[in-house]
Amino acid sequence: MIELVGVEKHFAGQPVVHPLSLTIKEGEFLTLLGPSGCGKTTILRMIAGFEQPSKGQIMLEGTDLTNLPPNRRDLNLVFQHYALFPHMTVEDNIAFGLKMKKMPLKEQRERVQEAVTMTQLNQLVKRYPHQLSGGQQQRVAIARAIANKPKVLLLDEPLGALDLQLRKNLQSELKHLQRSLGITFVYVTHDQEEAMMLSDRIVIMNNGRVEQIGTPREIYATPTTLFSATFVGENNIFSQDGRLFAVRPEKLRAVRNTEEVKRTGEVLDVLYLGSIHKLIVQLDDEPMTVSIVFDFTDNRPWEIGEKVGVDWNDQDEVVIGS
Ligand code: ATP
Repeated sequence: MIELVGVEKHFAGQPVVHPLSLTIKEGEFLTLLGPSGCGKTTILRMIAGFEQPSKGQIMLEGTDLTNLPPNRRDLNLVFQHYALFPHMTVEDNIAFGLKMKKMPLKEQRERVQEAVTMTQLNQLVKRYPHQLSGGQQQRVAIARAIANKPKVLLLDEPLGALDLQLRKNLQSELKHLQRSLGITFVYVTHDQEEAMMLSDRIVIMNNGRVEQIGTPREIYATPTTLFSATFVGENNIFSQDGRLFAVRPEKLRAVRNTEEVKRTGEVLDVLYLGSIHKLIVQLDDEPMTVSIVFDFTDNRPWEIGEKVGVDWNDQDEVVIGS
């Protein structure tokens, strides 16, 4: 559906996006995930046409978009700051793009109605943006984008300005909406949980480079670089005989017997985090702590300062590069 071929971006001679080749499939929910400044927004803006690549090509369904202006591309962009028109009602905001295209009035009404229903804005169509909550405004921005029926929707941290609860609600709504519309979504976020929950595939970015591309499951189970191993979920990184491997906290076992275990240490902290419980253990002979998810139904609670054996199964070691 979308193909980036050797796309690069430099600002004032400084590389911000290193050569990137990526194929995005039709109907896919693809997320660019990475810390602030890693180049996610720049990639999205190049796909949208607001930024020219310094090198490389961007194709949509086999057609080269690289030199087409944004309004000639069959895609829509939704930002974190939703940029609604303050003097227009919700329905006029949603209809705006359709009016610009001079779509017949009857079809405009149908498209608006469909978008309003999908985003559950039926009760709010006559209101103005200042009479809406942040989450409702964001839904209007999404409704306005889907009313255009673009082939691709580009979303740049669309839930970034919302509080946690609302963000969680809108995450599931977005996923549902994407499935029912069948539109390709390219989504930017720095929130790894959000990326895991929404995406078919995730592209992990760091410093303008791709670290790993994979399904949420692949990225969690088999991170290929140190950065992916520690950016998505928690990991314990061990180094032994010149090789580096990661073991997830839920794959480590804390045992009272300190014989015949892979490591020994001392309990530094016991954390009760609601649904899970964690031990932080300072290892003997190594300047590192490990994090272990433990079963709360253990007969005797762990105490700070207690000696502890740390063990795991060999097959739970994930060997990573650097
Ligand atoms: P965030 O999550 O904070 O939005 P991001 O991963 O989306 O970050 P980008 O906005 O793509 O990152 O920026 C990548 C790098 O490019 C940053 O170091 C930024 O300062 C730089 N940059 C972006 N736009 C320009 C510009 N127009 N001129 C010069 N440098 C820029």
